[in-house]
Amino acid sequence: MPHSSGGSSHSGGSHHSSSSRSSSRSSGSSGGGSSRRSSSKPFEGSKRYLYYKDSKPYFVYSNYDIRKKDMSMIACWIMTFVMFFLPFLAGTVFCTYDAVNFPKKIQYFKNKSVEFIIEDNLGIFENEKDLKRSMKDFYKETGIVPAVITVSNETWNNDYSSLEAYAYDVSVNRFPDEAHWLIIYSESIKDNGFNDWYCEGMQGDRTDPVITGPRGDEFTDSLYKRLLQRDKYSVDEAIAETFDQLTPKMMKVGLKNTLQFYVFLIMTVLLLAGSALTLVWSINKTKVPEIYKNAKPCELKAVYQEPCNFCGGVFIIGMHTECPHCGAAIPAHHYMKDANGNVVQIM
Ligand SMILES: [Zn+2]
Repeated sequence: MPHSSGGSSHSGGSHHSSSSRSSSRSSGSSGGGSSRRSSSKPFEGSKRYLYYKDSKPYFVYSNYDIRKKDMSMIACWIMTFVMFFLPFLAGTVFCTYDAVNFPKKIQYFKNKSVEFIIEDNLGIFENEKDLKRSMKDFYKETGIVPAVITVSNETWNNDYSSLEAYAYDVSVNRFPDEAHWLIIYSESIKDNGFNDWYCEGMQGDRTDPVITGPRGDEFTDSLYKRLLQRDKYSVDEAIAETFDQLTPKMMKVGLKNTLQFYVFLIMTVLLLAGSALTLVWSINKTKVPEIYKNAKPCELKAVYQEPCNFCGGVFIIGMHTECPHCGAAIPAHHYMKDANGNVVQIM
């Protein structure tokens, strides 16, 4: 069924119909996490690690090797990305792409004879030849056949609530091929003291891939502006010039739904930014803190500490042959170990 491509009248500006598609989908969240734990106090299954910071020794208890990267954060990110971000991202990318129109020439009239209908029932057209040329140019470019009809308000006022309703009936009855674009202009034949005019476009369903919402709106707006300058344009000139203006643009890639495009584009960018930020955060979490890099497992039962003779940094006796701070050799005679490797005596 044909539908309005836009209409206008002198009193209330133009109206456009716009549609926006919304999508909703449910989201699943992924849990996960690690059983990795570290603490300043011992706990079941923990191992003690010795590390140095600011020339002082520290202990940390952990159930994993604190010197190794924690890949679970990356694994968690990948899981979250695949289960949560990716479906959303695919959805928003699709909806963004879906709002873009790649016009294809309408093939309906190929190998058919084409009639360009201009019906000026009001007798107001000044140069039908130019109008027909503009309509032909539009057809050559798009494959859509325009038809232009003028009627008086009195023709439809009694039987129809609006010119749009009248144009719909005309379109259904005269252009059942759904490949025409009917432009109807209407004004009163009575002298009301002012020019009471209406204009309506009615496009067949087959024209949708070319006459998108924004293109239809552009045509309606441009035509409306010209129709307001009656001293400059006759009605047929206004229509012809508007066709001439739109024809070179019709087959260019454009948006079929501007709102949909920008909303989903922004959502795509936000999702990408969110994924990137959480990935960077996960990678950072994965890194081994600098102070843990040279940590050592320490199973000594008795712990003694002593300052280095050279640098004064404090170290744990029995854990090093060289000072962990300056690298100076630690004399072996400083301590004695028992059979288990524990320091038992400081000498
Ligand atoms: Zn030292």
